[in-house]
Amino acid sequence: MSEAGGLRSGDNVTVDGASLWNDILETARFGATPKGGIRRLTLTEEDRQVRDWFAAACRALGCSVSHDSMGNQFARREGADPSLPPITMGSHLDTQPTGGKFDGIVGVLGGLAVLRALRESGHETRHPIEVINWTNEEGARFAPAMLASGVFAGVFTEAEALDKTDRAGVRFGDALAGIGYRGPEPCGRHPIAAYFELHIEQGPILEAEGKTIGVVTGVQAIRWYEVTVTGRDSHAGSTPMTMRADALLAAARMIEAVNAVGLAHGPDAVATVGLVENRPNSRNVVPGEVFLTIDLRDPDDAVVGRMEDALRERIADIAAASGVRADFARVWDAPAVHFDPACIEAVRQAAEAFGYPARRIVSGAGHDAAYLARVAPTTMIFVPCAGGLSHNEAESAERGDVAAGANVLLRAVLDADRRLNA
Ligand SMILES: [Zn+2]
Repeated sequence: MSEAGGLRSGDNVTVDGASLWNDILETARFGATPKGGIRRLTLTEEDRQVRDWFAAACRALGCSVSHDSMGNQFARREGADPSLPPITMGSHLDTQPTGGKFDGIVGVLGGLAVLRALRESGHETRHPIEVINWTNEEGARFAPAMLASGVFAGVFTEAEALDKTDRAGVRFGDALAGIGYRGPEPCGRHPIAAYFELHIEQGPILEAEGKTIGVVTGVQAIRWYEVTVTGRDSHAGSTPMTMRADALLAAARMIEAVNAVGLAHGPDAVATVGLVENRPNSRNVVPGEVFLTIDLRDPDDAVVGRMEDALRERIADIAAASGVRADFARVWDAPAVHFDPACIEAVRQAAEAFGYPARRIVSGAGHDAAYLARVAPTTMIFVPCAGGLSHNEAESAERGDVAAGANVLLRAVLDADRRLNA
């Protein structure tokens, strides 16, 4: 803010929205589905094709491109001081089996649009600027999700990641070598000064409120549980209503309780039963055993803790009143992630400078940025998607919104370039 009139070097640079949109459509060919979506599972031939395309596009802009031992790609535009760690942008180019053209892709190709804008304007940055394509964000072929950014951030070891297998028994490490993307640089050694991830919201809030930019402040806390309800199998005709231990009936009451707990801890709390298995699942048997999963989320760890306490009590009460046993186990606990305040503020200011309607928002889904936040100042930028729909071939976003997101990305990166290591 030191320059006269408040105009800083780089403030006149904007991305070319038409080229960005062309890139989205062009890469959508790799794994295109008849319904207009993309099937581009990680480390497949389609993934190799889009990686090769991305590397060639970056090299054409004068960037150097490398990949590490987990296949994460780094496209680098040199800065005035090559000894500084890079300001980075990124996301992922892999998709769900029936994925769309935007999830992850706008973050990588939005970064490419920033590199293009810097080159065409001749703007020189102090730091190197890099775009990263993280391997296996989706977790659709190799669980868990965000595997390679997790290794990068030290959440998983590389050895355990390489040994993950898909449903056909193929090792992650073999699939990575098979497409030629197991690189020499050990994953996690790459220095990073800051990380910015542009992404579609994957929810309905921005569209419903007519906002163009979501200023993402963090990722909400997530806890997963598994409940096994044990009653007694018995004959549906000859067991009187008063003498049953009906596990499915008890489970139904528990599902109601999960919903009530979510509603009672609003406004941001969500509570979901998404998977139920009923045994023996026969029409003339009173069910003796039910397995169900519970997913609890809220931006505040304390709220999720209170939801868990309330749920444990309700489930114990229901089991006692229903004459069944309920075994309740927490199987995953991902605390809330809080992004870097200075990076968040840079995104907010960038949206304001461009006049884009914006609001603060907490991510409901996991992202590579959630792991990057452990090792570098990090934040995210959301743009709306039609109907909040994602992980769906019909996933859609507006060309103008995607370009706006990339402009905010560009401005936030230039802010970090001035601000960090000054
Ligand atoms: Zn994504």
